[in-house]
Amino acid sequence: MSFLDHINSELEQTRAAGLYKVERPITSPQGGRIETDSGTKLNLCANNYLGLADHPALRDAARGSLDSDGYGMASVRFICGTQAAHRELEQRLARFLGHDDSILFAACFDANGGLFEPLLGPEDAVVSDALNHASIIDGIRLCKARRYRYATSDMTDLEGQLKLAREEGARHIMIATDGVFSMDGTLANLPDIKALATAYDAILMVDDCHATGFMGPGGRGTPAHFGLSADILTGTLGKALGGALGGYISGPQPVVDLLRQRARPYLFSNALPPSIVAAGLAALDLVEQGDDLRAQLFQNTAHWRSGLTALGFDLLPGEHPIVPVMLYEAELAQEFARLAYDRGVYVSGFFYPVVPRGQARIRTQMNAALTRADLDEALEVFADVGRTLGVIA
Ligand SMILES: *Cc1c(COP(=O)(O)O)cnc(C)c1O
Repeated sequence: MSFLDHINSELEQTRAAGLYKVERPITSPQGGRIETDSGTKLNLCANNYLGLADHPALRDAARGSLDSDGYGMASVRFICGTQAAHRELEQRLARFLGHDDSILFAACFDANGGLFEPLLGPEDAVVSDALNHASIIDGIRLCKARRYRYATSDMTDLEGQLKLAREEGARHIMIATDGVFSMDGTLANLPDIKALATAYDAILMVDDCHATGFMGPGGRGTPAHFGLSADILTGTLGKALGGALGGYISGPQPVVDLLRQRARPYLFSNALPPSIVAAGLAALDLVEQGDDLRAQLFQNTAHWRSGLTALGFDLLPGEHPIVPVMLYEAELAQEFARLAYDRGVYVSGFFYPVVPRGQARIRTQMNAALTRADLDEALEVFADVGRTLGVIA
């Protein structure tokens, strides 16, 4: 079989299994309501938790920076790609998160990809939650430490793996977990994980992409939500903090210093554009100014969750603005998303490989840009589509 025949048959199989993803162009900025080629849609599937993706303060900051700082850096950071604002953002993020310092990457995918290899050698061990984000899994694959995996949020299994890592002579052990598991919206059990980390003298790394800016007091994330701290935190500017792009690792000074010397996606990839950095600073200003956006977000979440429950939908329990509506079958999830879209609500079906087979769902996400009226409209559409497809009575 020729190479392209092989690729085409892979595509055919993906389509036949109902797993083929299509991308729908939107013709407006990202927001609570968006424009598409088939009209206005309520948007329930962006990571735009605080509604900052089209916020005037971020647009102004980015525009101002374009004029004063230019468009691109055309350099990695250590050659000639660092402006004062890059360092300012790193220090602001670290202060906000309660760490010594932080280091910016082009994306959190890169931050996680570059984190493990410089910090852990073959004498070390990394113990990872089975449900961790793909970028953590890839980052761990790139390091030479021994790998241990525990069933998601299973503390008995985590302890077993920590014990095993110690018995097998690990020098340093790092526990790696998402702060929030993004397919389910469930929080990692950080109090127990932290206690086990202490008991087994392990370092705790938390990827808080779906929490920084809105979970916990002041929006300081999942560790703050539980009143504790992680040794190393990774995060993104691509979700609540403006939704553009950029990632970071935050932690103790020596860790950040070594990553600046050795993390490959940092050393061999371009510096963030100044406009993104300036808007990131503006996002932090808004996040630190007060709780009103967070309050709106969580009011919306409570209203949406109780409305769906009253209609009889099968939800995964939780408190996070990710509210997954379980449909189990990939094709049903796709069909649900299609019908909802036709009726003016933009949601996405999630199915294998982003969730396990047989666990397909519509992942809805709340944001602070949605109004009560928007949500009531979306509830009517969900009721209609749910009945049409026989998902609810
Ligand atoms: C979104 C996400 C990432 C990737 O972040 P980007 O900045 O978009 O690359 C990494 N980890 C988790 C848990 C995420 O949800």
